[in-house]
Amino acid sequence: MLVVMQSHATDEQVRLVCDKIESLGLKAHPIPGAGRTAIGITGNNGAIDLGVLESMPGVIECIPVTKPYKLVSLDVKTEPTIVRIPTPTGDVLVGGPHFVMVAGPCAVETEEQCLAVAEQLQPTGVHLFRGGAYKPRTSPYSFQGLGLPGLKILEKVRKIYGFGIVTEAIDNESLDLVEEYADVIQIGARNMQNFSLLKRAGRAKKPVLLKRGMSATLDEFLMAAEYILSEGNYNVMLCERGVRTFSDFSRNTLDLAVIPAVKKRSHLPILIDPSHGTGKRHKVLPMSRAAVAAGADGLLVEVHHQPEQALSDGVQSILPSGFSSLLSEVRAIATLLHRHLN
Ligand code: PEP
Ligand code: MN
Repeated sequence: MLVVMQSHATDEQVRLVCDKIESLGLKAHPIPGAGRTAIGITGNNGAIDLGVLESMPGVIECIPVTKPYKLVSLDVKTEPTIVRIPTPTGDVLVGGPHFVMVAGPCAVETEEQCLAVAEQLQPTGVHLFRGGAYKPRTSPYSFQGLGLPGLKILEKVRKIYGFGIVTEAIDNESLDLVEEYADVIQIGARNMQNFSLLKRAGRAKKPVLLKRGMSATLDEFLMAAEYILSEGNYNVMLCERGVRTFSDFSRNTLDLAVIPAVKKRSHLPILIDPSHGTGKRHKVLPMSRAAVAAGADGLLVEVHHQPEQALSDGVQSILPSGFSSLLSEVRAIATLLHRHLN
């Protein structure tokens, strides 16, 4: 259910409607827009008595939202969400006209490795650095990440180079720490339907980058995001990272057609991960070009200074010099489409 307020409704009127909703045992989500505020209602299992809300001052109408997802839907908010990520060198904006680049190694391996990658990335002008301190690996015998010492290395990268940090939380315990150290909390493909983790991310005070599960439908993907918003965190970025298909020439099939499909349904920004999406270094540049052209709001790219020695995903990691040329191509395409690359 959605309560649409008049464009001149006062803050006090919005607050009274929210209070009324909460007094009915429901949750109110005021969503300010350019023209008007809408208030999403969640927590109802059946129909709500509309009369009581519709007669309140400042209310235009109450409309039922028929989609399974509500807060992520365009019904609730027609303008694109612009996620603001504070970093030591200023705010990074994602969504609407703003296109974002995130780069860094798959995993935090050592301090030397992260500082070397960061040093070589800094001149490219990229503002967000990625790297997993907690690695969800298919095999229990593969490198699992450094955990807290890895987060401390990322903290150092942040301090020395001014990058905003994007890193993954794999469970509620690591999310507490990631929330403390990172600027963006990443939820990985394998955890897209870890509902307790999604709820915890929804209570976090930092933006969330939610990756699509490797066999998740679009509805499931959007419902996973809905979990985060329903807990009160509206700063969510989606990320397509390839899905499983019968195609046997790449690690995953990068579903770029999901970009316009998301845009038709949701106001949330969507990033593309061409590294996990293809699994091969030589495919990263062409798919990056295609992603920008298809309307993505950003790219998440694995970059390593010595990919052949990487502890994870070296074959899909590009060199910092390769990232630099990728960035200039992406910038050219983004400019053509009136997007600002920050
Ligand atoms: C990652 O980005 O580090 C990662 C593990 O990706 P995914 O969850 O998409 O496999
Ligand atoms: Mn990886």
